[in-house]
Amino acid sequence: NYSTAAAVEELIAPPVQVSYTQHLINGRFLDAASGRTFPTYDPRTGDVLAHVAEGDAEDIDRAVAAARKAFDEGPWPKMTPYERSKILLRFADLVEKHNDELAALETWNCGKPYEQSARSELPMLARLFRYYAGWADKIHGLTVPADGNHHVQTLHEPIGVAGQIIPWNFPLIMFAWKVGPALACGNTIVLKTAEQTPLTALYAAKLFHEAGLPPGVLNVVSGYGPTAGAALASHMDVDKLAFTGSTETGKVVLELAARSNLKPVTLELGGKSPFIVCEDADVDKAVELAHFALFFNQGQCCCAGSRTYVHERVYDEFVEKAKARALKRSVGDPFKEGIEQGPQIDVEQFEKVLRYIRAGIDGNATLECGGERLGSKGFFVKPTVFSNVQDDMLIANDEIFGPVQSILKFKDLDEVVRRANTTRYGLAAGVFTKSIDVANSLSRALRVGTVWINCFDVFDAAIPFGGYKMSGIGREKGIYSLNNYLQVKAVVMPLKDPAW
Ligand code: NAD
Repeated sequence: NYSTAAAVEELIAPPVQVSYTQHLINGRFLDAASGRTFPTYDPRTGDVLAHVAEGDAEDIDRAVAAARKAFDEGPWPKMTPYERSKILLRFADLVEKHNDELAALETWNCGKPYEQSARSELPMLARLFRYYAGWADKIHGLTVPADGNHHVQTLHEPIGVAGQIIPWNFPLIMFAWKVGPALACGNTIVLKTAEQTPLTALYAAKLFHEAGLPPGVLNVVSGYGPTAGAALASHMDVDKLAFTGSTETGKVVLELAARSNLKPVTLELGGKSPFIVCEDADVDKAVELAHFALFFNQGQCCCAGSRTYVHERVYDEFVEKAKARALKRSVGDPFKEGIEQGPQIDVEQFEKVLRYIRAGIDGNATLECGGERLGSKGFFVKPTVFSNVQDDMLIANDEIFGPVQSILKFKDLDEVVRRANTTRYGLAAGVFTKSIDVANSLSRALRVGTVWINCFDVFDAAIPFGGYKMSGIGREKGIYSLNNYLQVKAVVMPLKDPAW
């Protein structure tokens, strides 16, 4: 087991250079106004990978001014939707052309397996922008049959300057979920990347300008949350805010938005998603899917299936097989072929995951395997499985955001629905069953934004994603995401002058 331990000691040199580290404002790369930089790291070693311009309120002001001008005066909102659509399509083509560099940069800065970056996430990035290119020229209002002598129509207009704050777990996919709909609807953008992963959004934004995006339409500022992020959330000239990250920070930005100019806010926050294995399940298949649902992306997914509820009839067999599967998981240098799991993103997350593992042990859950770091450098954690987890334990309630599977036992469906719903979160759920009746009833009873039946983490561009309860406000992707970036204007005029 952990036969690949050596893989975390001998590392492959990443096949890419860091080209862009400055802010991208008004179509130009610029140093921070303060001249300061901050380090970004290679999570395989903890070594500094590059120094990046450190944005603060002054840089956000410059970026918002550029976005404001591009919106108020620039060609973007006034361009024909077809022209905008063609730029999105050209960007998607450039993403395909630069697939391997972008994927290598993503893996280097983020630690996710290169095969996942190159074969799954980059193709998804191109797909998302083609999807939104398709929407650009299909956004229109209605003719409304109002009572009385009036002709009424609605215009669907871009909302203005969108402020967007994204996390580090899927830097490019989050870039697409935010930037795609905003641009398709004709908005301009100031995007603040996560301080852990500033590099790929700068590269992608550079490609957008090559694709013909006018200057000022998409501005990217790197920097920390309480400085650059807070300045964006509270900016008086930002018309809309979209945020993905923790529930705690989501509350902060919502408050900043309310206290400044009451900009509308969409939030995509944390989760503690149940994955329910019913008694009729094929145990081998259920184990594999539950393993994927939790361990994918080093366990760093907002929708990770982090409460694995297993029916008592198959519980013991499931635990034994889940442990065997976790022990087989290949952990190591994410640039190596066949590696399923790289390092955690940074030392804070790494230590937080190890603290939760300690809490699981101290709370008397049964540690089946893992439970410690792998190797002596970087932020690798052994795939960890706990059985005999109870609902009131810390590891069954908090978002661990790491490779730690918690397996709980249940007796009947009413009970598991009640327990699954007893959480402050409501992002997603998985159900594994052969029964169509169980699938139908559970998908209606679970208070979550996505229910995956006999599958997990299916992220098509057209499928809406977002949370109930404290997992967020609003939906991203699909037709639903467009409303986040549109204003509806009612235009009313008499059909006929009543004096006639
Ligand atoms: P975070 O919420 O602190 O950071 C997310 C983004 O918000 C980053 O760009 C950050 O710079 C910015 N930010 C932080 N403080 C801010 C502030 N005061 N004002 C404006 N912006 C601010 O999340 P994190 O510290 O990177 O991770 C902590 C936890 O968040 C994780 O352990 C995990 O539970 C959760 N998380 C969730 C998601 C998700 O997709 N829902 C993604 C990443 C992290």
